[in-house]
Amino acid sequence: MFDNLSERLESAFKQLKGEGRISEINVASTIKEIRRALVDADVNFKIAKEFTDKVKEKATGEKVITAVSPGQLMVKIVKDELAELMGGTESEINLNNKPTIILIAGLQGSGKTTFSGKLANFLKSKKGRNPLLVAADIYRPAAIDQLKVLGEQIKVPVYSEPENKDAVAIAQNAIAEAKKNGNGVVIIDTAGRLAIDEVMMTEVANVKAAVQPHEILFVVDSMTGQDAVNTAKAFNDRLNFTGVVLTKLDGDTRGGAALSIRYTVDKPIKFVSMGEKLDTLDVFYPERMAQRILG
Ligand code: GDP
Repeated sequence: MFDNLSERLESAFKQLKGEGRISEINVASTIKEIRRALVDADVNFKIAKEFTDKVKEKATGEKVITAVSPGQLMVKIVKDELAELMGGTESEINLNNKPTIILIAGLQGSGKTTFSGKLANFLKSKKGRNPLLVAADIYRPAAIDQLKVLGEQIKVPVYSEPENKDAVAIAQNAIAEAKKNGNGVVIIDTAGRLAIDEVMMTEVANVKAAVQPHEILFVVDSMTGQDAVNTAKAFNDRLNFTGVVLTKLDGDTRGGAALSIRYTVDKPIKFVSMGEKLDTLDVFYPERMAQRILG
């Protein structure tokens, strides 16, 4: 993950090695390199430029601390700014309602169904909750089966109505069922399409309006770079979601989605998914991710 970005940043910092102090002159080419590295990692140019302007301002404004070399100082400034760009501190999901209703939205193939299973597993094993999974994809019978298989693996019940073609009714019936059975969290996996599509958006918006979820998590494949950011914007404009889930971070992703989404939609990344196995879900910690990028 982010290997290329990490290498490029490291080589940018190396340019400052041997410098006695940071000055506007000797920092200029390092800053340029950092900006290029971000753009090559699929960060939009405007975001990359704003980022390096901030870094430059901080670096040249710093008093020279004799104990710290300019290279080390630059690493620290970039690390702090990367964490800030990704949201600063972690943002947990809100589980204060009974039942807490969580709507999962995103394009087909983004990893929604897998994430729904992972989230149910996380809530059950790490948070001591008893979730109900809901298969509200009315177009793909295979999606219902997939969720059922996941539910069986983690011993979490799955609500579905294979004959019903009304996603709103399914979601409402599922919530009634959860109330009856005492499930503290209801996770509703909605239908996705391969590309943004009005029918899909209307359907998810209708489910949202009907069930008033406490969390709407937008799931996006981090491998899709700037497309991920554009998709996030379209979903957020329509759904005003509460958080982002970045999937497939175990793949060869360049980093653009992780670095740009927060800036673009002003919503926190809440979870990252790093594999197909159900226990590979992590709460997203911006500082740790920044540390990881800088190696
Ligand atoms: P959905 O159409 O949005 O529900 O997507 P799925 O959950 O069916 O996932 C699509 C494909 O991506 C499946 O083959 C999953 O096994 C795979 N997948 C999901 N999440 C991850 C992840 O974090 N890492 C990797 N490597 N594969 C994933």
